[in-house]
Amino acid sequence: MRLFAATIATESNMFSPMPTSLAGFRECVFLRPGEHPEDAPRMCTAPLWVARRRAQAEGFTLLEGSCFAASPAGTTVRKDYEWMRDEILREVRQAMPLDGVLLGLHGAMVAGGYDDVEGDVIERVRAIVGSACTIGVELDLHCHLTVKRVALSDIVILYKEFPHTDVAERAEELLTLVLRTIRGQVTPVMSLYDCRQIGSYPTTLPLMRAFVDKVQAMEGKNGVLSVSINHCFPYADVPELGGRILVVMDRDKGQGDALATQIGGEFIAMRGKTLPRFYGVDDGIRAALAADGMPVVMADPADNAGGGAPSDNTTILRRLIERKVKNAALAPIWDPVAVRLCFDAGLDGEFPLRFGGKIGPTSGQPVDARVKVVGLAPEAWQSFGPTQVPLGDCAAVRAGGVEVVLISNRTQALGLELFRNVGIDPVAKKLVVVKSTNHFMGNFGPIAAQVIYVESDGPLSRDYRRIPYTRVRRPIWPLDQETAPRLLL
Ligand SMILES: [Zn+2]
Repeated sequence: MRLFAATIATESNMFSPMPTSLAGFRECVFLRPGEHPEDAPRMCTAPLWVARRRAQAEGFTLLEGSCFAASPAGTTVRKDYEWMRDEILREVRQAMPLDGVLLGLHGAMVAGGYDDVEGDVIERVRAIVGSACTIGVELDLHCHLTVKRVALSDIVILYKEFPHTDVAERAEELLTLVLRTIRGQVTPVMSLYDCRQIGSYPTTLPLMRAFVDKVQAMEGKNGVLSVSINHCFPYADVPELGGRILVVMDRDKGQGDALATQIGGEFIAMRGKTLPRFYGVDDGIRAALAADGMPVVMADPADNAGGGAPSDNTTILRRLIERKVKNAALAPIWDPVAVRLCFDAGLDGEFPLRFGGKIGPTSGQPVDARVKVVGLAPEAWQSFGPTQVPLGDCAAVRAGGVEVVLISNRTQALGLELFRNVGIDPVAKKLVVVKSTNHFMGNFGPIAAQVIYVESDGPLSRDYRRIPYTRVRRPIWPLDQETAPRLLL
């Protein structure tokens, strides 16, 4: 038995002012066949990593392809996407004959001329491997789950958790189902239901937690192989954006259709009930300072690099300094030039630094402050589940009563190392501000006395009615009140 695995992944915020080029992939994940490290999966590479570990015991040969992944930013440059795609297609041809293909994709990648990158990749892989080969795909739940990609795959599985703590588990399931399909033990058929809604659904909150648990408990019984809840990725302008339900059933398409429709109805009934309370910036700071216990963790989802934001908005930081808040820390501000200046100043160096507020109008104005360099860490990392996320060179500066972590590799707040690398103990702070939507909860939730979500003026608005969509298929909630949910496949 011969299986091939590869990755091409990013999350494209089509409203972001930062184009994604090959350089963005090179600085994140750019691994040629056989180069994937042993220790842990990288962004979206879990199918390859899991398959490598199980190949011998399960009796198959793994043909490893390239893994390309970039941190979320703007639309990928067309020629760069086509080059990566064609590299992987060449590797697929070389690997033939194949019984199975495992693709670790993100699912919300857009390139110049390609609204549905993943559909394009799967279509071209299918044309090479033929209809008898089993194609299994793992996607982020923040994807555009298009009809094309589902129709051309045999098994598609999305992460269930937000924060995405289950990337490896879902890849294990994907491999198991692909192997069972190749061995003739199951015949997967997929049903796709379109809920016609845009939303955000942290699974750390009770309503969504219960929904995910209920859906997951259906798997492995009555012919249900897998159920995926597609949250959607709101910061794109593609026709098939929106929340969908995907059921993978053994043989019985009618039963899969009925189940997808039923679960879809329950997801629709949750509209408007899945978000935490959002504070204004000053109200949030007031609430945090008044809270019992420490640290209070304050999230700034509107400037989340994980959604393609620059992560250099200065609004919350400026208010903390102006209000003379003490014993606070904030991370990350993406500003490689400022990091360089801090390394030049050296540890304990004091100098006037201009930082943040550079990339676009939603970044706000830069902060000018006399700072003290309180920490330096070359080539640092933070952890997120089993994966290690590179931060590049990092510096911590103290401005008034706030310690700020500046990073060189743009990414969101995920691991406590983000602070600890540069000598800041987040547990000893009264207030810890993190730029992240909800992934921070995996590591910062357990240390938080309280979590407060703030709506800053960063680029990722929670009010989807303010996003200037022109191509998203209508009607869709909350842009429209009347919608027409339906089974697509
Ligand atoms: Zn995601």
